[in-house]
Amino acid sequence: MAANGAAASVSIGGRSYPITDHTFDVVVVGAGGAGLRAVVGCAKAGLNVACVTKVFPTRSHTVAAQGGVAAALANMGPDDWKWHMYDTVKGSDWLGDQDAIEYLCRNAPQAVYELEHWGVPFSRTAEGKIYQRPFGGMTTDFGKGPPAQRTCAAADRTGHAMLHTMYGQALKHETKFFVEYFAIDLIMDSAGACRGVVAIKLDDGTIHRFRSALTVLATGGYGRAYLSATSAHTCTGDGNAMVLRAGLPLQDMEFVQFHPTGIYGAGCLITEGARGEGGYLTNSEGERFMERYAPSVKDLAPRDMVSRAITVEIREGRGVGKRKDHAFLHLEHLDPQILHERLPGISESAKIFAGVDVTRQPIPILPTVHYNMGGIPTNYHGEVLRKVDGNPDSVVPGLMALGEAACVSVHGANRLGSNSLIDLVVFGRAAGLRAAELVKPGQSQPELPADSAELPLSRLDGFRHANGATPTAELRDKMQRVMQSHCAVYRTGEVLAEGVAGVNEVWREAADVKVSDRSLIWNSDLVETLEFDNLIVQAVVTMESAANRKESRGAHAREDFPGRDDKNWMKHTLATIDREKKSTAIDYRPVHDYTMTNEVAYIEPKARVY
Ligand SMILES: Cc1cc2nc3c(=O)[nH]c(=O)nc-3n(C[C@H](O)[C@H](O)[C@H](O)COP(=O)(O)OP(=O)(O)OC[C@H]3O[C@@H](n4cnc5c(N)ncnc54)[C@H](O)[C@@H]3O)c2cc1C
Repeated sequence: MAANGAAASVSIGGRSYPITDHTFDVVVVGAGGAGLRAVVGCAKAGLNVACVTKVFPTRSHTVAAQGGVAAALANMGPDDWKWHMYDTVKGSDWLGDQDAIEYLCRNAPQAVYELEHWGVPFSRTAEGKIYQRPFGGMTTDFGKGPPAQRTCAAADRTGHAMLHTMYGQALKHETKFFVEYFAIDLIMDSAGACRGVVAIKLDDGTIHRFRSALTVLATGGYGRAYLSATSAHTCTGDGNAMVLRAGLPLQDMEFVQFHPTGIYGAGCLITEGARGEGGYLTNSEGERFMERYAPSVKDLAPRDMVSRAITVEIREGRGVGKRKDHAFLHLEHLDPQILHERLPGISESAKIFAGVDVTRQPIPILPTVHYNMGGIPTNYHGEVLRKVDGNPDSVVPGLMALGEAACVSVHGANRLGSNSLIDLVVFGRAAGLRAAELVKPGQSQPELPADSAELPLSRLDGFRHANGATPTAELRDKMQRVMQSHCAVYRTGEVLAEGVAGVNEVWREAADVKVSDRSLIWNSDLVETLEFDNLIVQAVVTMESAANRKESRGAHAREDFPGRDDKNWMKHTLATIDREKKSTAIDYRPVHDYTMTNEVAYIEPKARVY
């Protein structure tokens, strides 16, 4: 391996790829909320940190987050982090790890105050405190009290405010950014440790090999495995797929969150904050149907329940519109001044994407894929886990995962709204703290394995010269349609079995992919193919994990197994793939049935009634 910044070259199939080598204490892949918070923490600890990102940092999907970030600040009424913890455990349908949930909720207020001090322009109360709105599943007094006002908001552009502020902090701490570098694969050594990552610089096609004592994947979710998703087109779960290719498992991939209020047709998000501000849903009879499904919290029930309720209304013939295939979200009864101040972004989205003036007309909505509860298994320090000698919680040396890419697991089977943004900053901060314990600034690093660039480059080269008959777009479309129709809000064994056959067929057909552009300069054909190759393996493990779990829990609603089965299924799914054989294997990891400290007791499972 050459010295920092020095060039070497590797020959693949007779073609030479120039390589530039870099050495850092820590390399963070991803510049969304999770990646940037980790970068700042590492830099503050004196570590030499690089941030590799395929899009400009402030274009990461975090920028699109609308409704807010959850923390029990008690600015608008009584609140307690223990109530937040209770709600999160219940929201997760008891699949979340309670030690991690305690860590999240206990540290949330401090993480939000830190953002405030860094300059996030939160909306304010009359007394100048951070404004907080009600969100689904957030209650007071361990579920016995009224809805909590816990979600801290900067109008309906909270993610935008957070991401820009954190990018400023990262620049202040002189992070080295590698912008528009696409990470291809992890560098793993023969002992199973992660030693860095290989990336391609998108504007000139040069290959960059990053050697690092610690590699942090903060690459976001994989919503684009589906046809209709609220997430950006860049949300292709590249880090998750790198982990699968490294022979490591992904956890709880069957749990895909459908947000109840995607704009009908377009799929863009209308934040849950709209219902937090007093919005409500109706069916074709003008009925506020959520009163039947969740009598106490109504429209502010957790997302899995509201998405199921809308689906049932449509199925039973009470959908709105010509085809009776969606529902209405009403905001027209709200004070136009409130809409203007607190929901300006979604007012604009409704106008552009549904042609609706929210002060006069309801918004046509439909549940849309929004968030991946599953991902790379980690502990609450961000360290990636794998099973070794029967220990399901052994750490993969040198590798961390954060944000939507990770499965800590704090969201379990269903994430509560506004709990992702807080997950990014709490665990981003935790990763920085852990990195400071694990890595000494400038510590010497062993040579990389001899084939560290060959493996990722042969995959890249294979796709660059792929000369089959099927264009990537066709394969992607087929995969997205199978996912949309066979792994939806409601699932049955029969439909999932068809889905398993369908996604595996696409996986096999991918051998016939055709890439037309052979160049290495802004080759979007090649990048989309790498992204598709990342998506298809996640689609396969999602479908296989869903077919395998024979119970209903959180977002995984099986019509053939309608009840939650704690005796047999209160466990995390671990899915791995064999790329050569194109096969999947499933294993399990126990849910942590203990808390982090003695200050709170384990919350015993019970029925989830709202
Ligand atoms: C429309 C919308 C609204 C939302 N609103 C809220 C909300 O109000 N509250 C809430 O709590 N949650 C919300 N969520 C969820 C939340 O915003 C996301 O879960 C979260 O922002 C994900 O952050 P992240 O840092 O994990 O990843 P992202 O923000 O998705 O960033 C991923 C980063 O990884 C980089 N990357 C990916 N692949 C590669 C690669 N191969 N090479 C190099 N770099 C790579 C990208 O460039 C990017 O910088 C919302 C989500 C959506 C889609």
